[in-house]
Amino acid sequence: MPHPNPKEVYGSLVFNEHVMKERLPAATYKSLKATLQKGQPLDIELANVVASFMRDWAIEKGATHYTHWFQSLTGITSEKHDSFISPMKDGTAIMEFSGRELVRGESDASSFPSGGLRATAEARGYTTWDPTSYAFVKDGTLCIPTAFCSWTGEALDEKTPLLRSMKAVSDQACRILKLFGKDIAHVDVTVGLEQEYFLIKKEHYEQREDLILTGRTLFGAAPAKGQELEEHYFGALRPEVSAFMHELDEELWKLGVAAKTKHNEVAPAQHELAPLFDRCNVAVDHNLLTMEFMRRLAPKHGLVCLLHEKPFEGVNGSGKHNNWSLSAPGMNLLDPGDTPMDNLQFLIFFAAVIRAVDEYQDLLRMCIASAGNEHRLGGNEAPPAIVSVFVGDDLAAILDAIASDSEYVAPEAAKIDLGVDVLPKFAKDTTDRNRTSPFAFTGNKFEFRMPGSSANMSDPNTVLNTAVAKELKGYADELEQAEDFDTAVIALVKRTIRDHKRVIFNGNGYSKEWEEEAARRGLGSTPAASDALEAMIAPKNLELFRMMGVLSETEARSRYEVKLENYAKVRHIEAGTMMEMTRRQLVPAACAYMTGLANGIAAKKAACPGISCKAEEKALRQLTNYTDAMSDAADRLEAQVEAAEAMTDALAEAKAYHDQVLPAMQALRAAADAAEGICGRDYWPLPSYSAMLFYV
Ligand code: ADP
Ligand code: MG
Repeated sequence: MPHPNPKEVYGSLVFNEHVMKERLPAATYKSLKATLQKGQPLDIELANVVASFMRDWAIEKGATHYTHWFQSLTGITSEKHDSFISPMKDGTAIMEFSGRELVRGESDASSFPSGGLRATAEARGYTTWDPTSYAFVKDGTLCIPTAFCSWTGEALDEKTPLLRSMKAVSDQACRILKLFGKDIAHVDVTVGLEQEYFLIKKEHYEQREDLILTGRTLFGAAPAKGQELEEHYFGALRPEVSAFMHELDEELWKLGVAAKTKHNEVAPAQHELAPLFDRCNVAVDHNLLTMEFMRRLAPKHGLVCLLHEKPFEGVNGSGKHNNWSLSAPGMNLLDPGDTPMDNLQFLIFFAAVIRAVDEYQDLLRMCIASAGNEHRLGGNEAPPAIVSVFVGDDLAAILDAIASDSEYVAPEAAKIDLGVDVLPKFAKDTTDRNRTSPFAFTGNKFEFRMPGSSANMSDPNTVLNTAVAKELKGYADELEQAEDFDTAVIALVKRTIRDHKRVIFNGNGYSKEWEEEAARRGLGSTPAASDALEAMIAPKNLELFRMMGVLSETEARSRYEVKLENYAKVRHIEAGTMMEMTRRQLVPAACAYMTGLANGIAAKKAACPGISCKAEEKALRQLTNYTDAMSDAADRLEAQVEAAEAMTDALAEAKAYHDQVLPAMQALRAAADAAEGICGRDYWPLPSYSAMLFYV
């Protein structure tokens, strides 16, 4: 079947600028745009007009329902569908959708996690349209991207703080630009998200309760072949994978998601999709849609998409790179530019990010902490649980020269007097080919590489935006008072680099030496997600969120509770799944094989007294040992889970799951994987790693 012309399908299911301009009465379009630009709420008259045109458009696209599409605190998108149908007295019906329904929805949200924020008596919350992210039609439903709050005004979702943080960084960046003589009303955060994922055969997936219930394999002996040949990276696509990717691209294009590149990744059966960057909240919404469509479309091609951070032990896990920058009309604020003044402006924004990453490294580590991502960080495939910034050797030399007041000797030995002259051109991303830095400057943007593949990216961007906003605020406060602006900027950049040099690291982030060096530099390392989460409520971080108007202390604490609970719940489900599989599948399988062996030995001996049964007896003894070990390990795991469940403090419980339950799970897995290694293939009930990863 020929593929449709991308130009024709692109955005065809989106109520975008083009559609608004074409469909809305000119006056309505104008006032809608003006309201959006000022970031003000829509008045009801305007909303009524917009809603009626939106409804007609959506019905043409096959919609019968509408939903306020929001991101609950667990990170996933939630939707409750209402039909447009409104019955009339004469037995017919009309299709209705009012302005009130467009801008505000009510939701009984008592079942969504709120970290104790919402007492049941006031369980209802309300959703409000985020008009900066276009409405779209998905599956016969008009989806209106919304934020979700409690009646007392507290954010109950991931989007509200993200929007607040974007405003905070925009306000502060505008103050800085003003000092450079640029009167700009709004600065955008731009984000491009590279998404990694695995595709395996549906028939394998369906045979594994661990994949079905937890998204990752809790058992599985290492295959003889892993990713060592590196033949998969950028390799030719399997036909069904290629068909899946084509359909995915098309569906995403219809929704206005600019899916751009796709390729095989390093691990067998691993792939990546990257769209073009967009405004931060839109990029996050689009990434959520991308993950949803990956999951949804794969089964049509006989495949299942795994978005877990570490579906398979022993091969790379999946992450999500967050490319981040700031943009004002016609300028990328992290582009060094060509003139001395451009360079100064660049240095200010660049320095603010360096300082933000150093001062809030614990928060950056916190915001990507999850039960899934814990298996990946530091696993020789992903950055360690230490936050540092890569700037490349050339830029590092320039920064060094600035900080030490010395002359910079460019590679071609041209001397440059910094501060008054143009910054020397530095090569982009020269030495970061190994991709080992958690936070890399890549020429005109920063790339945060710690987030896990399944993460909702609202949280990491909220933290990043807020921390940078706070540093820009400090700079603006200082520079607005400066007598000589240029001198003050240079002094400020110098000071920042001197004070925060420790966070800059250009070497191999995966190495043991870096861990030691980072400890000497006083950089934090928190491999356990349960430990990393504590940063959410550190006084300096609560103050940051409060001061920048992003999260109140109550909101921050409620998020902390939800994160801790989520960690414990995920481990609880994993442990329960392991016990169930061990007792009902693995031990019975091993026993069946052992019975076969024992019967075989008896039969052989009866037929030929004195015959050698060495191989069978050896296997029987070994498998008996491993099976006993499995059974005992399952009992020990059960005891650890009970102890963890008995805890009443959320932090203590999360820590117990990390410190006690996780090692018990690993012990059980070790016994089971050893048993798999000698149990007859026809008896073992789970598809093996080699079958799942090297399917043809
Ligand atoms: P990589 O070498 O890591 O594959 P690319 O240069 O292909 O990186 O870009 C990765 C992502 O960065 C893409 O989504 C791209 O659109 C995005 N990107 C490029 N410029 C910017 C920017 N100024 N702000 C945010 N994201 C950007
Ligand atoms: Mg990248």
